[in-house]
Amino acid sequence: MVLRRTARVEEEPLVLEDLPIPRPGPKQILVKVSACGICHTELDEIEGRLPAKLPIILGHQIVGAVESVGSGVSRFKLKDRVGIAWINSACGKCSFCRKGNENLCPEFQGTGCDVNGGYAQYTVVGEDFAYPIPERFSDCQAAPLLCAGAIGYRALRLTNLEDGQILGLFGFGASAHIVIQIAKHKYRSSPVFVFTRAGQKDHQDLAGKLGADWVGVTGDTPAAKLNCAIDFTPAWKPVIEALRVLEKGGRVVINAIRKEEKDKDSLLELSYQNHLWLEKELKTAANITRRDASEFLPLAAEIPGIDSHFPFGKKSIFRTQNLSRRFPRGL
Ligand SMILES: [Zn+2]
Ligand SMILES: [Zn+2]
Repeated sequence: MVLRRTARVEEEPLVLEDLPIPRPGPKQILVKVSACGICHTELDEIEGRLPAKLPIILGHQIVGAVESVGSGVSRFKLKDRVGIAWINSACGKCSFCRKGNENLCPEFQGTGCDVNGGYAQYTVVGEDFAYPIPERFSDCQAAPLLCAGAIGYRALRLTNLEDGQILGLFGFGASAHIVIQIAKHKYRSSPVFVFTRAGQKDHQDLAGKLGADWVGVTGDTPAAKLNCAIDFTPAWKPVIEALRVLEKGGRVVINAIRKEEKDKDSLLELSYQNHLWLEKELKTAANITRRDASEFLPLAAEIPGIDSHFPFGKKSIFRTQNLSRRFPRGL
């Protein structure tokens, strides 16, 4: 499916075309795609809010098998199952790359944004930017781990959470519902507080099912302050609210590729005294590095019953859990 021009998604700008099978260059592998996740970022690419290099084949949560290899490939052999994520390449030489911050490389190329991705039968990638997929995941289970999972893992890493500290999650969608499972696995003594929009009962129920210690609405004041928080929303109000209920010296990480303009007025509520003073920090998570994907996939495989699907629509299988009363809602 090729995107040749940006347009509202209702106009169906993705076009089915027959293209030649790409050839892997030196150190590249040709991957036969078996599953590719669909991301909200692609909606932004299709509708022009995030500039992609047109024409482009979208898709950056790719699982498939190595079909052929270019010269000098040593990490993979034919038929190996691999995953490809948002980071497709970086220069490897600049000051960012040398420090492991290849996500900030000026030559960073995004899969399905700067180079062709996975809405296709075949795609090529440098062997250093492909990851083995742990056996326990099916192709479809693994695909969303490559975006929502890996970027969520990066955001969690950037919070500097220590075991026992309180983590807040604002917004509870595709990425957050994986992050809570990592946090509960890796930081066993850390309470996790989840904030959703009012009326998002499905999200709140799922948060409870996945082990949230407190579930409330953005704007609520929990009984204890957050040592760190991740904002997964496209809005500004949750950022202000996260800073308000943040402990001294805490950090809020924004995990969003862009913010919506419509709720910009919320920023006028930002008060130095209430939201930033006492060494509170605000940081953003941009793209991912190879380290994020390669650490996250085996970690995810360790988590018993990790749920990489967002199973709304099967509401009947959820029961609202008896949430821990350690942190009753509100003061
Ligand atoms: Zn994505
Ligand atoms: Zn670089």
